[in-house]
Amino acid sequence: MNLPEYQCEPYTDYTHPNHAAAYRHAIAKVSSELGKDYPLIIGSERIMLEDKIESHNPCKPSQVIGRVSSATAAHGEKALEVAYAAFESWKNTPLETRVAVLVKAAAIIRERKLEFNAWLTYEVGKNYAEAEGETAEAIDFLEYYARSALKLCKPIQTYQMAGEADRAEYIPLGVGVSITPWNFPFAIFLGQACAPIVAGNCMIVKPAEDSAVIAYKAIEVLLEAGLPHGVINFLPGLGEVVGDALVKHPRTRFISFTGSKNVGLYINAEAAKVLPGQRWIKRVTLELGGKDGMIIDETANLEEAATAAVAGAFGFAGQKCSALSRLIVVESVYPEILEKVTSKVKALTIGDPLENKYVNAVINMESLEKSKKYLEIAKTEGRVLTGGTASSDPQNEGYFVQPTVVADVKPDDKLAQDEIFSPILAVIPVKDFATAMEVMNNTEYGLTGGLFSSDLSRLEFAERELHVGNLYLNRKITGAMVGCHPFGGFNLSGTDSKAGGPDYLLHFMQMKSIARKI
Ligand code: NAD
Repeated sequence: MNLPEYQCEPYTDYTHPNHAAAYRHAIAKVSSELGKDYPLIIGSERIMLEDKIESHNPCKPSQVIGRVSSATAAHGEKALEVAYAAFESWKNTPLETRVAVLVKAAAIIRERKLEFNAWLTYEVGKNYAEAEGETAEAIDFLEYYARSALKLCKPIQTYQMAGEADRAEYIPLGVGVSITPWNFPFAIFLGQACAPIVAGNCMIVKPAEDSAVIAYKAIEVLLEAGLPHGVINFLPGLGEVVGDALVKHPRTRFISFTGSKNVGLYINAEAAKVLPGQRWIKRVTLELGGKDGMIIDETANLEEAATAAVAGAFGFAGQKCSALSRLIVVESVYPEILEKVTSKVKALTIGDPLENKYVNAVINMESLEKSKKYLEIAKTEGRVLTGGTASSDPQNEGYFVQPTVVADVKPDDKLAQDEIFSPILAVIPVKDFATAMEVMNNTEYGLTGGLFSSDLSRLEFAERELHVGNLYLNRKITGAMVGCHPFGGFNLSGTDSKAGGPDYLLHFMQMKSIARKI
């Protein structure tokens, strides 16, 4: 099977009036589909339950995006049964057929990109460019993993023992569980499910509570693309109910999780317990939170550095695992950077992403309350230069947190150590580059990080010594592209499984070595 060489999906530029008009048209079209009820999907069965979780527009919480059935442990049990039955044929389905499903799914999304963008705008509050980035990333994951499977799912040449025919091959693991967050509810949801699937596994997928409607739309795409029933089973519901039951089930072969550090570490511990009847050691991949930093030294292009800092910290209201939340600035340029960053932040538009405003609401009331707590802490730990407030009237205004810049934060402050997941940027002054490097690595996380400098030796030093999974030099620290920037973190940011990287599929396969005497 020959596929054209992989390349990242190009973005549409919505600053162009015609494209913006097309986006608004898609928004209008999707608006007529809001508020519907959605079932679980187990095999060929669609199961509508009375017990549902409502999904809301975070920028206008009174607007219901949809009501999604909430699965229980018993549904988990049934889904495992169905998925194992499907595994018997899916693992033996020709690789080309499996690959073709992903490529077809990518084509369907490409064709209807604006529609999925509009759902993302409604359900999680992404503005036009952020939604476009995510839809493109979903396409990229599908196209990239399709090609990865063609490279990896084939016999492996080994050295030959005399008198033997020796080889090895990767085979799928079995039935896995994918548990995903709300902040990339389409791209991560699809990527994390489809990488194991193209490798021959069957999946039970548990989307986040706040974003299960767009996840349902993703499942529809896969079924339309020809994925056989039972290969993917859709079990939305509460993490601590159906998610927990699936993690602890002895028949779960592997768990692929993206989400917060605390939930991820809990899952890791539970998955390590071998239960009665369990015949394997569960494999776990974890992609967790971050407290991502960027250094600006005295040799940097300060204008470019400030622009990158603002984009990294406030894009999608700081709700990316890769978002900048610690800006570490060498003293001699500190006042100038504060001035530039603050004035750029003040110029950001805040409001409804349906109208393509830059800074949207945070996802839910819990996140708003958490942000408020940290805005209080900000007053004692530093100097609030802009922002510092959060709306408390969600019925009318949405869960808005004003983009906030806090100066004079110290390296060990809570604002410099805790993942807040909100548009709050801590700025930390340091006396020199060497201290900046120490401050940067002083975190339990290690997802993304960056340096702005024009000093080549410092850039090279940072390449060696900055301990992050994704290092960015003289550019913003968000916006990893599938295939170009394999994505995953060090330390408590995860198991560094590197989504969108050349080895990602290997997490969902095991190598079988075969020696035949001749
Ligand atoms: P979360 O940990 O609250 O939830 C993630 C998923 O876990 C949800 O589907 C939830 O229902 C489920 N869950 C919760 N409790 C569970 C339990 N006991 N057992 C099984 N499943 C359970 O995270 P979130 O708020 O949805 O997402 C934000 C977090 O995700 C941030 O920390 C962010 O940094 C991280 N994130 C990391 C990456 C990455 O690639 N490293 C990417 C996106 C988001």
